[in-house]
Amino acid sequence: MNRSVSGIGMTSQRTRGRMIERLREQGIRDERVLTAIAAVPRHVFVEEALASRAYEDTALPLGFSQTISQPYIVARMIEVLRDGRELGKTLEIGAGCGYQAAVLAQLTDEVYAVERIELLLAKAKLNLRAIQQFKVRLKYADGQLGLPEAAPFDTIIVAAAASCVPTALLQQLALGGRMLLPLGAGDQFLLLIERHAQGYVETRLDGVRFVPLLSGLE
Ligand code: SAH
Repeated sequence: MNRSVSGIGMTSQRTRGRMIERLREQGIRDERVLTAIAAVPRHVFVEEALASRAYEDTALPLGFSQTISQPYIVARMIEVLRDGRELGKTLEIGAGCGYQAAVLAQLTDEVYAVERIELLLAKAKLNLRAIQQFKVRLKYADGQLGLPEAAPFDTIIVAAAASCVPTALLQQLALGGRMLLPLGAGDQFLLLIERHAQGYVETRLDGVRFVPLLSGLE
């Protein structure tokens, strides 16, 4: 597979522009997040047969029963995490095809992304190479354990829904750091966790639907 980044050329430019307009209409205000999303060609990350739908605001299948998140969710989560500050050293749990990691890499120089399905990780590597994004450090690991060798993190973003907050992730959050994760087995919502010297502060945000965070490797 060697799809060119400019594969769908002008059509991609125009539909990408429309995607950004839609994100604005949906309430995304952080211009740096919008610029980051505009800079990443999403069609490179989805199955070739779905490339023409890459700029619709929907989740799309990645294979292995996983999905690439909807652009609105990627934008919303990063906007919440940024909240006007720099993301700093960032850990993504659930790299999938590498799309969200590529968006994060537009906003910070230090991105670690962990994935538990080896073949998906290989796909993410190819996709990031195809767009010449070499900053993201991809790791094959169970993200429930975080990434102790690179901790602490200023930002942790979880792309799969946990039934409870993984303790290792709380421990690996830097003081002043922020973590955002989908939580819940049936009904899910986004939970923002900020770590202060006095402890952790949790804020419950939007209802969402993510694939489950699983244990072990595949
Ligand atoms: N952020 C991805 C979409 C991820 S879908 C993108 O932009 O494409 C959620 C991903 O989380 C899946 O790839 C799934 O395999 C992964 N995942 C689930 N549980 C995990 C765990 N414990 N550790 C690492 N990755 C996990």
